[in-house]
Amino acid sequence: MAETLRVSGLEAWYGESKVLHGMEFCVRAGEVVTLLGRNGAGKTTTLKSIMGLMDRRAGSIRLDGAEIVAAPPYEIARKGIAFCPEERGIFSSLSVRENLMLPPRVAEGGLPIERILELFPNLKERLDSQGTKLSGGEQQMLALGRILHTGARILLLDEPTEGLAPVIIQEIGRTIAELKALGFTILLVEQNVGFASALADRHYVVELGRVVDEIPGSELESRLGTIKSYLGL
Ligand code: ATP
Repeated sequence: MAETLRVSGLEAWYGESKVLHGMEFCVRAGEVVTLLGRNGAGKTTTLKSIMGLMDRRAGSIRLDGAEIVAAPPYEIARKGIAFCPEERGIFSSLSVRENLMLPPRVAEGGLPIERILELFPNLKERLDSQGTKLSGGEQQMLALGRILHTGARILLLDEPTEGLAPVIIQEIGRTIAELKALGFTILLVEQNVGFASALADRHYVVELGRVVDEIPGSELESRLGTIKSYLGL
């Protein structure tokens, strides 16, 4: 399988504080790959760096072989990468429909709203509801659905299960599996090992701004003890 993303020697800073110290990993076309690790390990910063959102970053991020480490976010978006942040970024004064329509089409092949609503049937009944009226699960679905409208084929998802009830987590898991079946490439930050193990082809463990282990999906169960100790569980 071709490498879609190749991150090497990636460093990033908040002001003077360096938080990524040479991240190394790759994501192949059509894979779901997770970044696992404790709070503060640098997972979100890695996604933000790929999206061009960190002011100061260095090293290399290759997208289909082309260097993008210095590109601004709008260029990265146009190349087909989308970021779904942990805080979801729903516009609370806008309706579900308006939130879905808002992001511009940046690449060919964005899913039409009707198709997005097939993937997230809950949103169909809430189309005219204001963002503030949505449950946490509905907000997460809207945040995911919204990036599918843009035409992005590579999805960076930051803790989509955070704070959600088990039944909603299952639903989000089903949707991510469906997106994989549709050919999307997904880099997922997760703390929920059960959720990650059901979905991902491979996992990278992140500690103190570095990848310290790579675990194939098939080995996650047998290495659960090691993983729990990495995560401090
Ligand atoms: P979490 O699950 O808590 O988000 P994470 O693995 O995603 O954990 P990051 O959010 O990438 O970790 O944080 C990496 C480091 O950068 C941490 O030490 C954190 O305190 C620091 N950090 C994160 N955001 C900022 C910020 N805006 N300004 C300064 N330091 C930050």
